[in-house]
Amino acid sequence: MGVRQVVRILCCVRVRPGTIFGISMQYFPADLRDATVPGDLPPGRTKPPGLVIFVGAGPGRADLLTLRALDRLGNADVIVHDQLVPPAVLELAGSEAARISVSQLLAVNASGTNPGRQLGRWLAELASPGRIVVRLKGGDPTVFARLQEELEPIGEREIPFEIVPGITAAAAAAAAAAVPLTARDTASSLTIVTGHEAASKAAAIDYRWLADTGGTVVFYMGVEQAALWSAALVQAGRPKNTPVTFVSRCSWADQRVVETTLSACDTVVQETGLQSPAIAIVGSRPAAATGAARGGLAGRRLLVTRPAGQADEMIAEVGLRGGEAVHIPLIEIGPAPDPAAVEAAVAAAWSYDWIVFASGNGVRAFADCLRRSGRDARALGTARLAAIGPATRDALTACGLACDLVPDCYRSEGVLAAIADSCRRGRFLLIRADKGRELLRQQLEAAGHHVDEIAAYTSRPLAALSQEDDRRLRQFPCDWIVLTSSSIATAAVRLFGRRLNTWKIASISPITSATLAAAGYRPTVEAAAATATAILDAIEASERQPTAPGQENEAGGAKAAASPPPESRTG
Ligand code: SAH
Repeated sequence: MGVRQVVRILCCVRVRPGTIFGISMQYFPADLRDATVPGDLPPGRTKPPGLVIFVGAGPGRADLLTLRALDRLGNADVIVHDQLVPPAVLELAGSEAARISVSQLLAVNASGTNPGRQLGRWLAELASPGRIVVRLKGGDPTVFARLQEELEPIGEREIPFEIVPGITAAAAAAAAAAVPLTARDTASSLTIVTGHEAASKAAAIDYRWLADTGGTVVFYMGVEQAALWSAALVQAGRPKNTPVTFVSRCSWADQRVVETTLSACDTVVQETGLQSPAIAIVGSRPAAATGAARGGLAGRRLLVTRPAGQADEMIAEVGLRGGEAVHIPLIEIGPAPDPAAVEAAVAAAWSYDWIVFASGNGVRAFADCLRRSGRDARALGTARLAAIGPATRDALTACGLACDLVPDCYRSEGVLAAIADSCRRGRFLLIRADKGRELLRQQLEAAGHHVDEIAAYTSRPLAALSQEDDRRLRQFPCDWIVLTSSSIATAAVRLFGRRLNTWKIASISPITSATLAAAGYRPTVEAAAATATAILDAIEASERQPTAPGQENEAGGAKAAASPPPESRTG
């Protein structure tokens, strides 16, 4: 199979005849030429011939990027990334930036062509109309990254370039395992070696020299060839009991650290089922005090499903607790179905006794309308404001509006109990989505109050998983799906069906759990309160429990049992 057959383009754009991305097709492998695509590549915002920036993405976790990398990602027109670069890193790019994955092109060179050079020509073409092209590479762009080949065509066309360093896997692995790469008494040199060569051109590596230098040797791409290089090092004279530390999937949720010795390398790799990508550090011992503090979600990956722009807080909290979030919004928030009705409600806001907000989205839509109509808080007169829960209250506060009431029980019934008796024959304005529960309206009316209800925004379920999101889910398998509203739960059921059973399910409230139950799914945990913190607390509490048969949904339990511990030490 040649390069042409293996290229996949994950972010595609509409193609002008004879071109792709407005670029002559001669540079593209056949199936790239056939790419079908939504949307155009951005035209570029700098002068021709543009700029190519090689950016080191670090080992995986977004918080291991440099500030400069973050800056360049935020300013890119196009990002050409290795497939191993996790979604969390890509999400830091500007929303306008087109993303293209080319790892398969780089990985295969069976046709005899030079994929690095080919990719370099492609980068040059992408940049030449004046685009800022970020070539995002795992780790550091200068370490086992085919930088030379990619740079040549860019240099030949005199396209300016920049290289932004990243944390290379050896450094990240050393930190994760608390293994110093150099030590004053025992390791005064550090050699990095590709383990990949071991199979094809064993002679290319001078094992005798490696054995004689005596310092630390780090093998990249070496887990599959561990039997070969470990035996070669022993044969060349390195003692059998030389310490070896493997760090697999460093900084990812399923990172593993395994300690062994040169002579036991092969067996340990087989027995522990260590997965790529992995680093082997040979010769250095773990520092005496290992075991950095890790949060309660360490080793866990959570599928966060909140709408775009509303998940940042939860994603940050997952990270702080040591876990990893994959964000796929399952509902999309859109404008009000009848904007004039919202404007009329805002104009008459002063005339109500209570304005009740059922969600943060409602608050933001209402406040936007208030601002756009040239009004401010005075337009609310003496109306009191109620929020269904603390997140909605926080949204009011963020808009400069004080909340008069948050019920103890964060649902319509709670609001009802707290305010129904606050006035006789009162006037209530309910701000909500285009779909939602009717209970509050019905019961307020039954109690003799006047109720106006306004759909301040629309909430649409995601119709289908994009190819890119599907790839992310397969490449970065999640342990949990976090469902933070009833409508998100409905969208999840519709979109994933039985696939929901491959995750443990966290539900934010009894109503969300009831929606799931009606569809035949049982949440693994339910939050004690309808907040991001409470739902993550519930997940952490569940992770601390020993898995009892029958306690979880079938596949969730099986998965938890089958996954390796976040850190295991052997040998
Ligand atoms: N430029 C990269 C290296 C690319 S070669 C860097 O500087 O790190 C690919 C190899 O890097 C993998 O086979 C593995 O040995 C190592 N690697 C990359 N990411 C890794 C990770 N998250 N954990 C462990 N090893 C990793």
